[in-house]
Amino acid sequence: MGAIIGIDLGTTNSVAAARNEHGRPEVIPNHEGGHLTPSVVYFGSTPPAVGQEAKEWARVGNEEIASFFKPHMGSAQFKLNFHGKDYDASALSALVLKKLKADAEAHLGKSVDRAVITVPAYFADAQRKATIEAGRLAGLEVARIINEPTAAALAYGLQKTSVDETVLIYDLGGGTFDVTVARITPESVEVLSTAGDHDLGGKNWDDRIASYLAEKFAQETGIDPLDDPQALNEVLLLAEGAKWTLSERAATRISLQIGTTRKTYELSRTDFEAMTFPLMDRTRRLTEEALAEASLRWGGIGGVLLVGGSTRMPMVRQFVKQMSGRDPRAGVNVDEVVALGAAVQAAIEEGRETSDATPKFSLAGARRVSDVMSHSLGVVAVSEDGTSFVNDIVIRRNAPIPAENKKSYAHACRGGSNDRLEVYLTQGESTAPVDCAILGKYVFTDFHVTDREVTVDVAMSYDMNGIVQVKARQRDTGHALTMTVEPVPDDLSWLGKPPEASREPDQSTRIYLLMDVSSSMAGAPLMEGQSAARAFLDKCDFTRTEVGLISFSDVVTLQCGATDNARKVVAAINRLEPDGTTNLAEAIGLARSHLIQNDKRRYIVILTDGYPDAAEAAAEEARTARESGIDIVAIGMGQADLDYLRRLSSTEQGSVFARHGELVSTFGHIARIIAEGGRGLRISS
Ligand code: AMP
Repeated sequence: MGAIIGIDLGTTNSVAAARNEHGRPEVIPNHEGGHLTPSVVYFGSTPPAVGQEAKEWARVGNEEIASFFKPHMGSAQFKLNFHGKDYDASALSALVLKKLKADAEAHLGKSVDRAVITVPAYFADAQRKATIEAGRLAGLEVARIINEPTAAALAYGLQKTSVDETVLIYDLGGGTFDVTVARITPESVEVLSTAGDHDLGGKNWDDRIASYLAEKFAQETGIDPLDDPQALNEVLLLAEGAKWTLSERAATRISLQIGTTRKTYELSRTDFEAMTFPLMDRTRRLTEEALAEASLRWGGIGGVLLVGGSTRMPMVRQFVKQMSGRDPRAGVNVDEVVALGAAVQAAIEEGRETSDATPKFSLAGARRVSDVMSHSLGVVAVSEDGTSFVNDIVIRRNAPIPAENKKSYAHACRGGSNDRLEVYLTQGESTAPVDCAILGKYVFTDFHVTDREVTVDVAMSYDMNGIVQVKARQRDTGHALTMTVEPVPDDLSWLGKPPEASREPDQSTRIYLLMDVSSSMAGAPLMEGQSAARAFLDKCDFTRTEVGLISFSDVVTLQCGATDNARKVVAAINRLEPDGTTNLAEAIGLARSHLIQNDKRRYIVILTDGYPDAAEAAAEEARTARESGIDIVAIGMGQADLDYLRRLSSTEQGSVFARHGELVSTFGHIARIIAEGGRGLRISS
C-alpha cells in the first residue's frame, strides 16, 4: 500500500504534508520547490498547468484560467467550460490534488494513494462529498475529511507536550472566515464550538480597496473600471498587491491605467483599516458567537491561534489583541499549520503510534480528536397547526461528531402498498425550510399498516467526516422502512408560502433595493444590511433580473441604476455610508420613476430601521407605486414598526421584521419568492 498524506485544499493555495522519518509532520515541497501550491488551473496547455505557472498566466490576464473554485464545491450550477469540456469544482480541485499527489510522490519516493483532506468547518454535506469526489478523481482515497481549524489545533497541540488549555482558532483565508474554540490536552483535541462566514475573507478586503480605486478613477476621469471585466481584473490585482504592501508598510502608491489614462493614488494603512473596519467587526461578531456557543468568555481562552493568509494583516493581530486582551500565539505558520494538522490526522489514520516520535513532542495529543459540525440537521415537517412547512431540527449544530439522534413524526397512511413517506433532509438553522439547504429526498415505503396514522422514528447521523445518513422505522412494529433516494426536485417553491396568483415564470424582473442609510443605521445595522443585500444578489438570477440601488437618508441617491451586472450593484452596496434622517417618500418616488411601465415584473424592496420623516407621504408614495403595478416588499429592523411596514408592502407576507442576525436569511427568502414568480407578493384583488 502507498503512503498517506495530509492535504490542505485551500481556496487560494493548497499545501501537502506528511510525517517525516522522525515522526514529525512536515510540509512536502512542490515540484517548483515552494510550500504553497496556488489552487489555480491554466487550460491553455496540455495537460493543464496547475499551481504557480497557472497563477503567472492569470496575472498576465489569460482567460483560460480556473481559480477560486473551492467556494463552489458541491454546487451543480457551477461549471466552467474549457475546450468543450465542462468542469465542476470537484473536477478542478481534482487537478490540484493530482499535482499535490505527483509532487509528493516525487519527494517521498513512493506512491501516495490515500489522503486526509481538510475542509472549512462550515462545509455542508454536499461540499464534503464533493471533496471526497475530488480525491477520488485524483486517484486518492480520502481516509478522512477534517475541519481546517481542528487540524490547526492538532498541529498546535503537537508542538507542546504538556498543554492543557482552551484555545480560539481565528482562521481568515482568501474567501472564508472560520472561528473555532477547542480544548487541547495531552490526551485529546476537543472542539467545543465553531462559527463562520463563507463569504468573508481576504477577497472582501481586496474588494474594498478595488471599490475605492474604481470610484476615485470614475469620479476623476468619467471611466468606470467596473464596466470592463479586464479593467476590473486589473483593479482587483492592484488592490490585492496594495493590501500586501500595507501589511509591511504604513502607506502605498497605486497606479491605475485604463487605456491611455493613468492615475496614481496614495493609500495609507490607517485609511485602509478604517474602510475595512466593518469587515473586521464581522469577524468579532462571529468570534463572540463561537465563544457563547462554547459557554465561555475571553477569560476562559488561553490563547488565540491565527490561521490563514489574511491574518498577516497587522489589523487582525491588533484586533485579536484588543478582543482577547493579549497577543495571539506566535510560532504558528499561518499557511502551513492546517496541512501539518492534516498530516497528524493522516498518521492517526495510519495507526502509527508514538514509538518512533522524538521526545520533543508526542502524538499523544492526537489520539482522541472530537470535532463538531457547524450546521444543524433536520427534516421538513408540517407544522403542528398544519398551516405551513417547517424545518424541524434533529441534530443541533455544534454537537460532537459522530452524532446521531432520532425524532418521531406522525404519518397518515392510506393503507395498501402505495404508502410512501417523503422525507426531505435539511441542513441549516432557520425554521423556514426554504432558507435551508435541502440535502436529499428520501422516500420510505413498506409500511405495515393497521391504523390510519403511524408513528415513524426518523434517525439521522453525522459520521466522522460530517457526511449525513438517514434511516426510518415504524414505531409500532419496530421494522426498518425501505428507503430509496430520489433526486431533489428543482422546484421546491411549495416549501414556502401557499401559492398565490402566480405570473409567467420566465418574465424578466427589475428590482430596486431601497436601503436606509440614516445615522441610526451606522455600524452593525448597516453592515448587516449590506451583507443581506449581497446575499440577496447572490440569489438573484441575473440572466433575467436587473437590480438597482437607491440609498435614502436626508438625501436620496441613485447609487446604481438597474443593471444585470451584479458586481456593479455590490460595489454600490459596499460604498454606502450612513448619514442624516429618513426620507423614504422621495426614495420610493425615485424608484418608481426608474420602474416605468414595461413588460417586466417590477419590485421595490425597502430596508429601513425606523419611521421615515414623513410617514404619511411615504405610505402615499408606496400606494401610488403599488397602483402602478409595482410590488413592494418592506423589511424592517431595529426600531422599525411592523404595522407601518404593512402599510407600505403589497401583501402581508411582503412585510417582515427581521431581528438582529436574521436579515440575511430574510433577504434570501424574499429573493426566492421573487424568483419564483412573485408568489405571496402580488396584491390580491
Ligand atoms: P489562504 O486562503 O489562507 O491561503 O489566504 C489567502 C489570503 O491571504 C488572500 O486573500 C491573500 O491576499 C491574503 N494574504 C496573503 N498574504 C498576505 C499579506 N502579507 N497581507 C495581507 N493579506 C495576505
